[in-house]
Amino acid sequence: MKIIYSPKYEVDIGAHVFPTVKYRLIKERLISGELACESDFIQPEKASLENVALVHTKDYINKLNTGTLSYANLLKLELPYSKELAEAAFVCVGGTILTARRSLNDKISVHLGGGFHHAYPDHGEGFCVFNDPAVAIRVLQKEGLIKKGLVFDVDLHQGNGTANIFDNDSTVFTFSIHQEQLYPLPKERSSLDIGLDAGTNDDVYIKHLEESLPKIIKEFRPDFAIYLSGADPYKFDQLGNLELSLSGLKRRDEFVLGEFYNSDIPVAVVFGGGYALNVLDTVEIHSNTVKAAYELVNRGKR
Ligand SMILES: [Zn+2]
Repeated sequence: MKIIYSPKYEVDIGAHVFPTVKYRLIKERLISGELACESDFIQPEKASLENVALVHTKDYINKLNTGTLSYANLLKLELPYSKELAEAAFVCVGGTILTARRSLNDKISVHLGGGFHHAYPDHGEGFCVFNDPAVAIRVLQKEGLIKKGLVFDVDLHQGNGTANIFDNDSTVFTFSIHQEQLYPLPKERSSLDIGLDAGTNDDVYIKHLEESLPKIIKEFRPDFAIYLSGADPYKFDQLGNLELSLSGLKRRDEFVLGEFYNSDIPVAVVFGGGYALNVLDTVEIHSNTVKAAYELVNRGKR
């Protein structure tokens, strides 16, 4: 299994709760833990304007490219603008498209990045410039590689941009399990939303997944899934109040990826958020997601 990654994701955004360093640290951890070696990583190219425009408005793309986003847009995005940020956003979309394509052959593919689910067609929001999962689904559909896509989003925050983009689209199922009383407020309507109370623990959380994912697979029958494996439902995350442990998050990933794998549904993993007090916890959570993917792939080879 190759892993999609670009050093360009480590954008300097100053003192910020979003640790862009995490991507490189995860890569280093996978190598030091002997889960992967340097040659296992593939660097994506920038997504084309044409592909990004399958989801985003030309006006927004143009403003991002020319550094002319309005002050209101930048306030919503909550990131300082730079050319490097814009470039990273294009590369990240390219990365999720590549991950999605590879998953169609390999069953599971992992992007050390992406999952920017708060981005809307005409603006970025909540640290998310482009909605890479949405663009990847639109690209696979446009090329006739899939008909029906699923976004299975377990980030702490609701995937409001994704829900908005695919609202009233019967070819894409959007699932979001998140903390209810938290940004974004108000929320959009996904195909299925599970809004959790503060303090939700491992067992309650995983029970929700066990009750919903097999049902979605059985009833919607996606040709392809994106697993948006946010690290921020963690109990020591700075942005939320869910109570998941490191081992609970690992169980979550093993369950979700196992369901897709055993149902023969290609799955592309993207990371989403992670704002643990100690960035190394975020690195461990995301690394465990990659490990869960490796375990399934290796099991399949035996
Ligand atoms: Zn989040």
